[in-house]
Amino acid sequence: MSYTDLNTSLRTIMTPGPVEVDPRVLRAMSTPIIGQFDPEFLTIMNDTMDLSRYAFQTTNQRAFPINGTSRAGIEAVLCSIIEPGDKVLIPIFGRFGYLLTEIAGRCGADVHTMEKEWGEVFDPEEIQAEIKKVNPKIVTVVHGETSTGRLQPLKELGNFCRENDVLFVVDAVATLGGVEVKTDDWNIDAVIAGTQKCIGSPSGMAPITYNDRVEKILLERKKIERGLSSDSVNERSIQSNYLDLSQIQDYWTSDRLNHHTEATSMLYALRESLRLIKEEGLETRIERHKFHEGALVAGLQAMGVELFGTAEHKMPVVTIIKVPEGVDEASVRSTMIQQFGVEIAGAFGPLQGKVWRIGSMGYSCRKNNILRVIGALEATLIYHGVKVNRGDALQAALEFYVDK
Ligand SMILES: *Cc1c(COP(=O)(O)O)cnc(C)c1O
Repeated sequence: MSYTDLNTSLRTIMTPGPVEVDPRVLRAMSTPIIGQFDPEFLTIMNDTMDLSRYAFQTTNQRAFPINGTSRAGIEAVLCSIIEPGDKVLIPIFGRFGYLLTEIAGRCGADVHTMEKEWGEVFDPEEIQAEIKKVNPKIVTVVHGETSTGRLQPLKELGNFCRENDVLFVVDAVATLGGVEVKTDDWNIDAVIAGTQKCIGSPSGMAPITYNDRVEKILLERKKIERGLSSDSVNERSIQSNYLDLSQIQDYWTSDRLNHHTEATSMLYALRESLRLIKEEGLETRIERHKFHEGALVAGLQAMGVELFGTAEHKMPVVTIIKVPEGVDEASVRSTMIQQFGVEIAGAFGPLQGKVWRIGSMGYSCRKNNILRVIGALEATLIYHGVKVNRGDALQAALEFYVDK
């Protein structure tokens, strides 16, 4: 017998995004709409910029969201700085490295890639050697590769790029707000974040930040005033209007030059989630993500399932486990969501059907959820005929929580 359960608020979302959002963020989204040139709206924009700088750990003047999902942020940065023929070096270690490659390619870049097997990351020296060989204008890389659960070290690479006058652009979509990302300390020229991951807001905004080195290129490419002249485009113009950072940055200054109509409710949500980050404190928040990862991993190991990849470069906010031999990956996820209301994720490309990805991000990263996902996974695996160490997983997680 089955009854349709329409109450989706009973879902426990343990994927690498979208994740659950704090009720305060949901309430913020129901704030009445105000016009984008209303003085009150300007306060919201200024708050959002200040709070973004805090989250990005930067003193950059430019720190604001792009309307659209995270890839809109990536595309805005790349299409605004890449001119046809520019050399762009992209180290790829999973699905989102290919996304950077595709976007750079569409911008007409002369794309150079280097690839690692899924599950590994690059030794910074390998990339540095390639930079010397290729001599690119831009290096762009993913920080936390959600498809493989791996974290690329960035600090050394940032220093090297700065010393060699190469622009360093980082996709920190999956990490910002849950894992350390030090924009200024690590010499990153432009960083793109994502809301529906560790920031804990719905999907639909992409906070970005960039420094003067990036801005210099934007200003060179900006020619004639926005859309008020019939010959406003020349051969160096940024090909996208919607994602043209030279125009968007003017909107995000005290001049508030009109560009798009701001996605008001999404901005309310973003501001509230950034406030939550500030209130919790970035450091504490990063520690919280590591802490709950500890409980999750202890539980999974006690259950007897196998973790994917080495521990050294594991993302604390994504935990990947191998699908046991003979088990249908998708039907396990289906039982978990239909019977327990607990969602975990499958995988892409070479890992599809072979692993499950468990996210522990933002508001979803809390004790209730960790215990639920462990319990639901164990019961479901037993139901699907997998031999696990019955009862050990929840005990291990419980002990972790009680003892710490
Ligand atoms: C989720 C994700 C993206 C894409 O985000 P969208 O919001 O779906 O556009 C890009 N990069 C990384 C590392 C991600 O995890």
